[in-house]
Amino acid sequence: MKFKFWGVRGSIATPGPSTVKYGGNTTCIEIRTDDDDLIILDAGTGIHMLGQQLLQQLPITAHIFITHTHWDHIQGLPFFAPIFIPGNSLKLFGGLDPVTHEGIERALNVQLQDSYFPVSEAELNASVEYNTIKAGETIRIGNAEITSILLSHSGLNFGYRVDCDHQSLFFTGDYEPLHNIYRPEDSQYATSQAFIDDKLKDIISLMQGVDALIMDASYTTEEYQTKTGWGHGTYNLALKHAALAKVKKLFLTHHEPTRTDQQLESIHQQLITNNPVINYDIILAQEGVENVF
Ligand SMILES: [Zn+2]
Ligand SMILES: [Zn+2]
Repeated sequence: MKFKFWGVRGSIATPGPSTVKYGGNTTCIEIRTDDDDLIILDAGTGIHMLGQQLLQQLPITAHIFITHTHWDHIQGLPFFAPIFIPGNSLKLFGGLDPVTHEGIERALNVQLQDSYFPVSEAELNASVEYNTIKAGETIRIGNAEITSILLSHSGLNFGYRVDCDHQSLFFTGDYEPLHNIYRPEDSQYATSQAFIDDKLKDIISLMQGVDALIMDASYTTEEYQTKTGWGHGTYNLALKHAALAKVKKLFLTHHEPTRTDQQLESIHQQLITNNPVINYDIILAQEGVENVF
């Protein structure tokens, strides 16, 4: 199994000279199993370039797992060129919307309304299949097993663990680890903390020992003071999860849109300096870079 980042940016695409090294496209990860099955995690703007490359390999079957339907994770779907070409197959997986109770079909059909896009869903020439999945469900694609878990964000967000070819990765999508809103002297503090501890235990258990943990690390701890509740985590929270789950490599992603390449590298250097005795690699997710285990 190998994987490649096609988009690593959070919230909004940010092309330009200050993001040219790590990339400005929003979330998209391509996974290839040793049998060449194609699994894609999220369909942010990065999936456009992936689609262009796949035009050299038609016909294709793409299994696309959506963490959640915020724009930066689905916006590239209507621009994924293989969906317009007969013979290709697109299988979309994702959770039920907790508010509207609609399935994952909404990720595409909301965007293909006349008000937002010139081509309608009926005009797509590829075969498109929708699979609405439940938290905890495991889906098998060839030799790969993909297991979902509900992670806290604003609205529903699935983290996915992918196991294949004796290798494993975990992608959080957007994830703000739960925190206790009560003070230790409040009567609800202990109950709330017990719930948070249980939830973290379940998450760490599914992340346990993965070769690659790809985690939302949008903010510094300092920035987080004013962005608590916005649905994203920090660099230090990512390190905490990596240590608890004993992962081999930690990839930091969902780079904050105003973060320049230089700032990312400076933060990365500080993380390494401040954590001299960790036994996993800390890596900045970088668009266009293929990662082998
Ligand atoms: Zn996002
Ligand atoms: Zn989000």
